[in-house]
Amino acid sequence: MDNGIDTSMYWHEITPNLRNFLYEENMSKTYPKMFEPLDLGFTTLKNRVLMGSMHTGLEEAKDGFHKMAAYYGARAAGGVGLIVTGGIAPDIMGKVQPFAAKLTNQKEVKEHSIITKAVHDNGGKICMQILHAGRYAYSPVQIAPSRIKAPISKFTPLPLPGLGVNMTIKNYARCAKLAQQAGYDGVEVMGSEGYLINQFIADHTNKRTDKWGGEYKSRIRFPVAVVKSVREAVGPNFIIIYRLSMLDLVEKGSTWEEIVELAKAIEEAGATIINTGIGWHEARIPTIATMVPRGAFTFVTQKLKGSVKIPLCTTNRINTPELVEEVLAEGHADMVSMARPLLADENFVIKAEQNKADEINTCIGCNQACLDHAFAGKRATCLVNPRACYETEINYIQTKSPKKVAVIGAGPAGLAASTVAAERGHNVDLFEAEAEIGGQFNYAKKIPGKEEFYETLRYYTKQIEKTGVKLHTNKKVTAKELIDAGYDEVIMASGVKPRIPNFPGFDHEKVISYQALLKNEVVLGKKVAVIGAGGIGFDVAEYLTTDLKNSPSLNKELFLKEWGIDKDLNARGGVQGIRPQLDDPEREVYLCQRKTTKHGAGLGKTTGWIHRTTLKHKQVRMLGGVSYNKVDDQGLHITVGDESQVLDVDNIVLCSGQTSVRDLEADLLAAKVSTHVIGGADVAAEIDAKRAIRQGSVVASEI
Ligand code: FAD
Ligand code: NAP
Ligand code: SF4
Repeated sequence: MDNGIDTSMYWHEITPNLRNFLYEENMSKTYPKMFEPLDLGFTTLKNRVLMGSMHTGLEEAKDGFHKMAAYYGARAAGGVGLIVTGGIAPDIMGKVQPFAAKLTNQKEVKEHSIITKAVHDNGGKICMQILHAGRYAYSPVQIAPSRIKAPISKFTPLPLPGLGVNMTIKNYARCAKLAQQAGYDGVEVMGSEGYLINQFIADHTNKRTDKWGGEYKSRIRFPVAVVKSVREAVGPNFIIIYRLSMLDLVEKGSTWEEIVELAKAIEEAGATIINTGIGWHEARIPTIATMVPRGAFTFVTQKLKGSVKIPLCTTNRINTPELVEEVLAEGHADMVSMARPLLADENFVIKAEQNKADEINTCIGCNQACLDHAFAGKRATCLVNPRACYETEINYIQTKSPKKVAVIGAGPAGLAASTVAAERGHNVDLFEAEAEIGGQFNYAKKIPGKEEFYETLRYYTKQIEKTGVKLHTNKKVTAKELIDAGYDEVIMASGVKPRIPNFPGFDHEKVISYQALLKNEVVLGKKVAVIGAGGIGFDVAEYLTTDLKNSPSLNKELFLKEWGIDKDLNARGGVQGIRPQLDDPEREVYLCQRKTTKHGAGLGKTTGWIHRTTLKHKQVRMLGGVSYNKVDDQGLHITVGDESQVLDVDNIVLCSGQTSVRDLEADLLAAKVSTHVIGGADVAAEIDAKRAIRQGSVVASEI
């Protein structure tokens, strides 16, 4: 960057002096590229930020269009240069599931115009994404170029007859025309992630013998015809973004030469912008989850620069204005697409513009409330921002009668509750027994691949300062102190403590808690058993096997190497013939559970497979159906099935779940203090930060 400072480093690594320097002296000049308008000829975008397409579930929800109007309107007011909606099918066969949204008639045009009006009223621009799922449709009746089942689908598609191909192209054009009538500024043609267009392009999914199959030139005829017919339908002054799969991450995907050929043909066909697509949904390589380094894939878009004249947009794991600026300044792209970061903070752009980047609620890439919800058919929202997609339902309205509020515990639940209550005008004391805020997040942030969790703590540190919460650290508050102080409301967010199983030798010196491990209170040996294979057991196994000085989530080259991605893009699909290359794991680890079900079955839908694959790469031994007999100097004695054995380990780490801490509650209730119990203190089982932050925010919005 032009100030000579590498701002891609994480906030926790920046000293307070450097941080002040960045903000007070330099920030006004920090994002010149990000705020450079982009002239598209017939229209100008006010900055280089595109809000990437995300299906939210509101598309099909009751009163969904009014809710979407509030959701997109807030992002437009927050300064986004160009918004792209979630995918809308061009016809019935294109739907991602039977009840998914489509745009095929005037009634639907009317509904969509509610969104476009809200965005335009707030000074924004918006394109509608046209998505045809093809063989990825979650429906027994689905169509594709050929009768070949997707590895991630239960259903086999019907091959489209030649007439059907022509009809589908016409339906794309009709959909774009209707979008124009609804007031959209353009459309995005979804040509990546393995959906119908990709299925036409790739040889292994297109075995047609008519003019739509055969050589690469014939296989790309379909996307080119789609863009051409859309352009004919909408005229010259309408944005057409084409989302081009630049890195398929499947063995039989396109070569780089083929991708360049397609990009040129798409430009020629009339596209205004080419957006980047990384990885088919069936690819077994993480592309957006939190363990993917920031900006890991912008080099792919950069490689296409110069091959076409229209603007290129890059994407994937870009979540700070510093990185947006860096990517643009280094010439990787002309625009940057961010999707989840704008779910996490609708005011991302405006905060950057006003030099308030430290107030941005940063997307931590967890997928827990957005993608995991979308894949489970639930409404998307955000772990760090429960208002996302609930803009008309959860509101932080200024109170007319400020109350004296105490919040016990500065974990995620207490941080959310205290800052929302103070934002609404209440007088809030936040008590934390430890020296720093964060609760269990202070352990989570130490896990390789979870470094983003530092950002949430940075955000709340700033929110505490901004909202005027009075923070008392190193203060383990008692019920008597709270009762004597006469609080109107007490919010107990005292969290969880580890469950200690009771078997002979559980107090042996080899046995430690995950907390002691992650606080660096112990020196570990080279052979370790982990008891409990929940989220924390998986994280601890990752921690134990990784070189902590060289986390792949902070090192792009290492990440690409460990997942077998060709950084020179010579391999077909970016992966053909490349094997993951990992150094020997730091330790030999056994991950044990009593259940006989698959390890990690309860992990996130879109991230569980990544955790399982990583631990497999690191040769972690998964033991299920385990009975723990005892621990002694020899190690951990267990029985699996009928067989008893001794794991001759140096240490045993307990990750055997949590129990609630609600020790003050009885006294508070006896003294008739209005008390609300939230987060892990409320229910310890399956407590995660998503529930903790949401519960804290909702309780604070209602007092
Ligand atoms: P806690 O985080 O337990 O906070 C409670 C706080 O209250 C503590 O700071 C405690 O010191 C304080 N306290 C207690 N009693 C008093 C008192 N009397 N006076 C003052 N202070 C008091 N969740 C996810 O959603 N996604 C993840 O990827 C994830 N990864 C994790 C990885 C690890 C290694 C760990 C350990 C946890 C992870 N979690 C994750 C779980 C998540 O951190 C917890 O669900 C969340 O922190 C619970 O929030 P809470 O506020 O209810 O409780
Ligand atoms: P957890 O998911 O409930 O797992 C607890 C593990 O301990 C289970 O594997 C359980 O398996 C075992 N266990 C329970 N009681 C035991 C006993 N008495 N003796 C021995 N083993 C016992 O809890 P967690 O791992 O502590 O995680 C807490 C929460 O944090 C989770 O619910 C999760 O939501 C959240 N988290 C999420 C992530 C994420 O990536 N999304 C990561 C970390 C944490 P068996 O009963 O089969 O032995
Ligand atoms: Fe980002 Fe997690 Fe929020 Fe999704 S849920 S937007 S990944 S912080």
